Amino acid sequence: MKPSPVFADAPVTIFEKMSGLAREYGAINLGQGFPEDPGPLALRERAAEAAIHGWNQYAPSRGLPELRQAVADHYNRMQSTALTAQEVIITSGATEAIAASVAAWVNPGDEVLIFEPAYDAYRPLIERAGGVVKSVVLKPPHWDLHQEALIAAIGPRTRAVLFNNPMNPAAKMFTAEELATLARVCIANDLLVISDEVWEHVRLGDRRHLPLALVDGMSERTIKIGSAGKMFGLTGWKVGFVCAPQDLIDPVARAHQFLTFATPPLLQTAVCEGLGWDASWFEAMGRDMGNRYALLRHSLEAEGFRCLDSDGTYFLNVDLAASGIGLGDAAFCELCVREHGVAAIPVSAFIQGGGQGSIIRLCFAKPDDVLLEAAGRLGRARKIFTKR
Ligand code: GLN
Repeated sequence: MKPSPVFADAPVTIFEKMSGLAREYGAINLGQGFPEDPGPLALRERAAEAAIHGWNQYAPSRGLPELRQAVADHYNRMQSTALTAQEVIITSGATEAIAASVAAWVNPGDEVLIFEPAYDAYRPLIERAGGVVKSVVLKPPHWDLHQEALIAAIGPRTRAVLFNNPMNPAAKMFTAEELATLARVCIANDLLVISDEVWEHVRLGDRRHLPLALVDGMSERTIKIGSAGKMFGLTGWKVGFVCAPQDLIDPVARAHQFLTFATPPLLQTAVCEGLGWDASWFEAMGRDMGNRYALLRHSLEAEGFRCLDSDGTYFLNVDLAASGIGLGDAAFCELCVREHGVAAIPVSAFIQGGGQGSIIRLCFAKPDDVLLEAAGRLGRARKIFTKR
């Protein structure tokens, strides 16, 4: 008898679904988070050159030595860490890095804490490893992390936290106080933290990114994950980094060798070059995203929408109820993509049993004219729904 399929009940990811609908209806796609821009030419040229003249067979499983060194140097320079190349491995995207970290460290029956709304891969990856998800639901508009909620979610079988900062889809950067709270609780309960920091350079204001591993007592219990795709706006490249002390990273490297084994060397070579760029390049990228955020936000507010604050990521969240729209987020997104030519993501998709939510996520990493057109279309949709 054939086995039953494991992910039979899992929905097609909301990103795939909305991008599919956007294509089908010819809508502006502000759903799945990727920039419209093709990414830095210098890196694409470097990858092309490496494809023609470089090594195109398997890379070492842990990554090209020069890239592991470049990742360590990059973080040491930009974030004052003290990483060595041995404490870095390269994966095929951050999602693989998360999968490898979970596969390496979550045992059947282990409870793992997540914060919802949570990136959609976290829950299925933990559950597939036999782990049990414990969720702390953060509430808009500020998505504050409270110590009591954290402590209430922890039991004798809790082993790890899968954390995301800056947080997708909330577009939140946790404050130093919130990180200190998280650290205190993790240390008191001797928890491991898988810290997904892929949005670390996509900061929309002046606040600095605080790597969790740098909070006192956290370096020895934190597996940090980064992403070249997010750093350079090359999301299709799927080049991720894992950084952790030797005893934490070695098991992740073992898991990675059985997942993808290695990552395309031409992409690693190109990423290596980008990581060496001056801090000013990354600051300019953040400023550019900040300008796009401001443009979309102002245009939507002019149309009567209420927006939540974004500290980081490519995303702006809109509160439908506060904007006078009595429709649930999923229903609004369905109607918008089919009838009004804009694809967005309903945030309730990131909360297990989230029911009808009221917040939609829009990606602003698009040209100005596209953002203005989308805001106009959404404004017309709003007028119809507020009249209903
Ligand atoms: N990280 C992207 C987002 O949040 C989506 C990635 C994906 O489609 N799996 O929109």
